[in-house]
Amino acid sequence: MSVEQPVAVNPHPFLDGRPKRLLIDGKWVDSDSGQTLPTLNPANGEMLAEIPDGTASDVDRAVTAARRAFEGEWSRWSPYDRQRALVRLADLVEANYDDISMLDTLEMGAPWSRARISRRAVGLLHWFAAMAVTIHGETIPNSLPGQFLSYTVKEPVGVVGSIIPWNGPTTSAIWKIGPVLATGCTMVLKPAEEASLSSLRLGELCVEAGIPGGVVNIVTGRGEVTGAAIAAHPDIDKVAFTGSPETARHIVRASAGNMKRLTMELGGKSPNVVFADADLDAAIPGSATAVFMNCGQVCSAGSRLFVEEKIYDRVVEGVADVGSQLRVGPGSDLQTDMGPLVSEQQFSRVMSYFDVGRDEGAHQVSGGGRLREPALENGWFVEPTVFSQVHNDMRLAQEEIFGPVIAAIPFNDIDEVARLANATPYGLGSGVWTTDVRKAHALAARIRAGAVWVNCYQAMDPAVPFGGYKLSGYGRESGIQQLDEYLNVKAVWVNHG
Ligand code: NAP
Ligand code: MG
Repeated sequence: MSVEQPVAVNPHPFLDGRPKRLLIDGKWVDSDSGQTLPTLNPANGEMLAEIPDGTASDVDRAVTAARRAFEGEWSRWSPYDRQRALVRLADLVEANYDDISMLDTLEMGAPWSRARISRRAVGLLHWFAAMAVTIHGETIPNSLPGQFLSYTVKEPVGVVGSIIPWNGPTTSAIWKIGPVLATGCTMVLKPAEEASLSSLRLGELCVEAGIPGGVVNIVTGRGEVTGAAIAAHPDIDKVAFTGSPETARHIVRASAGNMKRLTMELGGKSPNVVFADADLDAAIPGSATAVFMNCGQVCSAGSRLFVEEKIYDRVVEGVADVGSQLRVGPGSDLQTDMGPLVSEQQFSRVMSYFDVGRDEGAHQVSGGGRLREPALENGWFVEPTVFSQVHNDMRLAQEEIFGPVIAAIPFNDIDEVARLANATPYGLGSGVWTTDVRKAHALAARIRAGAVWVNCYQAMDPAVPFGGYKLSGYGRESGIQQLDEYLNVKAVWVNHG
């Protein structure tokens, strides 16, 4: 379908009024709680669907199914069988992408016009399909006297508990499902309360793709209940988590009992550095998009904008201008550049940071409030916002806001900006805008973060590892590094003397 032809938003085929169910052992079942949670459209406050309010016993049932699948038929699937399943899933996701991305748009607000074009989930699945047949160990020479052969094999870690946030629901889910299928693990997926629908739809497509029952289980519900049950479950071998450092600490502690493998994709307060010699026609819109994209609800948003003193005013005015021109509205409207925040909670949080910025003495250059047009008054819409005269030690510059807020900080030279860029507990993304290649490499080497984007921001590819330093977490997603997080290495020694 061409981009110009929108599909029908209402009624959405997945929103048929019936309460959703859990996917356990290849079957759609009710929660033991018998209760549901409403899921709301942040653009107008309307209820979209009811999702099961899952319990610890639901998680337990899902883990039992996942363990059985891990040891059963699935374990006898060859890498080529798993590859074919991933290709079938990729084809199904691609064929249904408009509807799946619309579920995300309706549930968490992201502009549909962008979501449906990027189709990142499809690219990820193709990449994992390709990688499924490349996993192998090594033959390693050893120095033992006599004749010993030593080699390694890579084996799936087992049952994985995958817990994801709401800010990029389809991509997050596929980023967890892909490596499970590629390596031969099985999983219990816990989507975020605010955005579970696309995960449930992906579950249907996993069934349709012929993935055996129990390999992909989906348990919705509240994090403190179902997420906590996953973190503590003695028969889960690994937790793959994406979310906030606060929740991550709970998971680290709860996972200690059976020493689970963990990967942690957490938050950020990423520095984006613009030098005076940068191509400002690229750096200004690039720096604005680095924060305003997805209404600032991006873990690697370039929310600390460091600008060299000489061009500070020009860049600050430039990004504020870009922000003011964005069309803010419901994500389902094809004209929309920036949608609402995901929830009332997130809205209150972002609004409170507008006050924090003003109270700390930062200068509000643009935005800084709620959008009050009648058409938007029932949604969680805020203005793209720029603060200048920010010091790196202000809360505005140190705390992750997860909203469309730029904190602009001046600097004089590369030593100063390298020091300030690293003066944060986080280390996820970073940007450098300059036409001087030496400066770009010099700063890239000094920034302590999992990604440095030079003259671009948020470039991503399934083959290139993504993840954090410091409080932004550990482990990587994408790249062969991600597959290794789902594999154990076994050494085999053979005395053939
Ligand atoms: P969050 O509150 O940590 O929630 C993430 C997930 O954890 C949700 O599914 C949540 O369930 C669940 N959860 C909550 N409490 C739990 C507990 N005690 N035990 C186990 N699981 C629990 O994070 P969020 O506010 O939804 O998402 C925003 C954060 O995610 C930001 O910090 C952002 O930077 C980070 N993020 C990082 C990346 C990355 O790749 N590095 C990507 C996207 C987002 P409920 O929804 O039911 O609460
Ligand atoms: Mg939450």
